[in-house]
Amino acid sequence: MTASCKICGGTTRVTHRGTVLRRHKATYLMCTDCAFWFVDEPHWLNEAYSEAVAAIDTGVVQRNLSLYPRLASVLARMFSPAGIYVDYGGGYGLLVRLLRDVGLNVYWQDAHCQNLFARGFEWDGSRQGAATAVTAVEVMEHVTDPLAFVDTCLQETGADSFILTQHLHDLTANPSWWYLAPEAGQHISFYAPQTMHKLAERLGMTYHAANTLHLLTRQDFRKGTFARTVRLHRYIHPWLRRRLQSHVVPDHQLLVRRACCAG
Ligand SMILES: [Zn+2]
Repeated sequence: MTASCKICGGTTRVTHRGTVLRRHKATYLMCTDCAFWFVDEPHWLNEAYSEAVAAIDTGVVQRNLSLYPRLASVLARMFSPAGIYVDYGGGYGLLVRLLRDVGLNVYWQDAHCQNLFARGFEWDGSRQGAATAVTAVEVMEHVTDPLAFVDTCLQETGADSFILTQHLHDLTANPSWWYLAPEAGQHISFYAPQTMHKLAERLGMTYHAANTLHLLTRQDFRKGTFARTVRLHRYIHPWLRRRLQSHVVPDHQLLVRRACCAG
């Protein structure tokens, strides 16, 4: 019998077996109810997160540059320009730095990666208070238990909204789909629209989509608002840059003060 679905508890079927990191056998399962598609018991994750594997990600800068104007527009327009935001799995901190440069109060949380660009702005709920929303970029395909992960993020931060990036699969269970990326061994969870709806339902949230950006929220947004805000980022982002005060200089001054006090 195959494992049950970690999102809805439904039964699963084997879609295919593949080879991960060129030597580990992987079984891909899909839920017959919500279409959550996942790798059964990925035991190679420690190996997959070694530096050598991370080095093949040449898209990291391009992705962040394309994403931050969209995300800034959503955070400032649908939530608040003065809100507190936490980027889970913040990686090198490039996105947090870009969003702080716009003038948004964004912090990061990442237990696995050394932050390079936003040091000093790690999330600490006791200092910053409850968060308005959580962002998770290129994260959900890496987690083994998405339901528990989102729930933990919301509980730890006090946020009622969760914004994520994700390429949804098309239900065909194509073993050659590029996003499976078996050569790196890090992508282990894949979602269809019905998976996102089920995930939201299990968390008492509603689901809104805008291409590869997705919003799970307990707030009452009109249908289409999220997609429209993302689409209009071309206008909203330049407007934000004029209206908000960038954190570049204040952040620098804060870090200098901290360094002086520590010395
Ligand atoms: Zn399911």
